[in-house]
Amino acid sequence: MNREVNIKVLLASRPIGYPTEKDFTIVESEIPTVKEGQLLVKTDWLSLDPYMRGRMNNVKSYAPSVEIGDVMVGGAVGTIVESRTPLFSVGEIIEGSFGWQSYAVLDGVGLRKVNPALGPIQSSIGILGMPGLTAYFGFLDVCEPKPGDTVVVSAASGAVGQVVGQIAKIMGCRVIGTSGTDEKVRFIVDELGFDLGINYKKENMGISLDSACPDGIDIYFDNVGGFVTDEVIKRINTGARIAICGQVSQYNVTEPELGPRNLFHLTKSQAKMEGFLIYSYEGRYEEGLYRLSNWIKEGKLKYKEDIVEGIRNAPQTFIGMLNGKNLGKTLIKLS
Ligand code: NAP
Repeated sequence: MNREVNIKVLLASRPIGYPTEKDFTIVESEIPTVKEGQLLVKTDWLSLDPYMRGRMNNVKSYAPSVEIGDVMVGGAVGTIVESRTPLFSVGEIIEGSFGWQSYAVLDGVGLRKVNPALGPIQSSIGILGMPGLTAYFGFLDVCEPKPGDTVVVSAASGAVGQVVGQIAKIMGCRVIGTSGTDEKVRFIVDELGFDLGINYKKENMGISLDSACPDGIDIYFDNVGGFVTDEVIKRINTGARIAICGQVSQYNVTEPELGPRNLFHLTKSQAKMEGFLIYSYEGRYEEGLYRLSNWIKEGKLKYKEDIVEGIRNAPQTFIGMLNGKNLGKTLIKLS
């Protein structure tokens, strides 16, 4: 008979450049015991996100680093299998930061109960969770869209980007997405209804943007930074809004790239560039979840997941996501 164990993915070393599988160790341990006030959750789904790359570094940031030998940080959704707190019951589904492991003992702080009637439970770490809410607040609050605006979104087929583009369409905007493969470009245009897609790895960004946005760009939702962003900034319109959601092109560089030297375009066009973190919208999550789930029910919002089975595959799947191998939200299915 197979004895159930806790399978954990630990940070083994701090990567230089892109992480490799050697930067992770997979270990098995006893399923942890639960003390008074705690609960034991069995992880059903693990979310893999670009921010985790930053946590592998030993630098001061908005969130603490993972220490060498610690379980990798990560959002997850799972089923409570033991509870010694009156706040949670066995069988309830919860979402929180359990890390890359098949079981976790938690003290109940920072957990959200998931209603399985609202949709597949993994949507609580996808479209109805952190990435969906990032798209919702980042686009609607920071970018303040108006009907007829020309919107560019980078990493457009990914967890955040695919939602941003569709919300932009719902708001009556014209939407252009940038992605790293022809398959991704076809996906955002043919399946998600973007007006145009640009393969930034194949096309000349300047020429393609000129042709896609003959009247300039009113909104840029930036997930990537780097040369894609440089070319967009040159084409922003008067009063444009730029949301700096992430800069994934910079997360694995060993030498920092030069910062943007073209910011005078913001002066000339009296444009706004604003960074944001989804956590600052915590008090308004219910609003975002309500509207996102309504758009899904109305058939206005679709969502693609890229699912890999097995916690042992988390390191290679994470590395693949940072290299653009994912199409949609990257998830590990555990059970
Ligand atoms: P994702 O788009 O699902 O996956 C990452 C994608 O980044 C890859 O598929 C790849 O797509 C693209 N990429 C990788 N290297 C690149 C490069 N050098 N240049 C351009 N694109 C590159 O990830 P996500 O979860 O939706 O996150 C998107 C961005 O949002 C990230 O920057 C993340 O850090 C940020 N984020 C911010 C917040 C916040 O609170 N501000 C919250 C969540 C996420 P291609 O094949 O298209 O290159």
